[in-house]
Amino acid sequence: MSRRKIVAGNWKMNMTPTQAVELVNTLKPLVANDEVDVVFCVPAINIIPAMEAAKGSNINIGAENMYFEDSGAFTGEISPLMLVDAGVKYVIIGHSERREYFGETDEIVNKKVLKAFAHNLTPIICCGETLTQREQGITIDFVRQQIKIAFQNVTAEQAKASVIAYEPIWAIGTGKVATTEQAQEVCAAIRVCIGEIYDQATADLIRIQYGGSVTADSAADLFSQSDIDGGLVGGASLKPDFGKIVNYK
Ligand code: PEP
Repeated sequence: MSRRKIVAGNWKMNMTPTQAVELVNTLKPLVANDEVDVVFCVPAINIIPAMEAAKGSNINIGAENMYFEDSGAFTGEISPLMLVDAGVKYVIIGHSERREYFGETDEIVNKKVLKAFAHNLTPIICCGETLTQREQGITIDFVRQQIKIAFQNVTAEQAKASVIAYEPIWAIGTGKVATTEQAQEVCAAIRVCIGEIYDQATADLIRIQYGGSVTADSAADLFSQSDIDGGLVGGASLKPDFGKIVNYK
């Protein structure tokens, strides 16, 4: 089964609007590659200037988060309607930093996923275990549970179009990349889980990224695994190295 690769950057809370425009302009020629979907998920305030700067290139500007209501008294939150109106297609949902620092539960992740689909946004749904869970040997059970809750009431058609990012928490921002075997094992298990919830056709179409300290050196091995369809990249997405990750072959 050949799935189109998707490489997404997660800028986290970095870059002012001015810096965002500069970074898009620097990376634009470096990430040019028509065989891969390229997404820069940027802080909300940078979405519009980054999108202007990316015009005419292959870069999709995405969001790092959104709320599960359309509008109302939710001070500080970003509505899916705002993202859609700005021209956004992809939105990261349930990043481990949001789960850890902002109290996002699996149930909240599910509400956000459903809301994203209600507005034709493509969620990049994050999952992944802590180091303790890996050491306890419960990685796959834990990730399967995250996936089952995230996909509650999501249709097979919606699931086929979604993106999952498997990100072991111990590998995020630590420089400790998972081995290709560890990453492939969990991504394959996620695909099996999607097959159980839906069917084989859905499992074959859904795209599963690996995330966690991906660099220009590790990208090729990771992305050539049979169940890994690209990456979600934090630190290295802010550097010219992101071009090498997109052009990993
Ligand atoms: C991330 O932010 O999703 C991530 C994987 O970060 P890093 O690549 O810096 O580990």
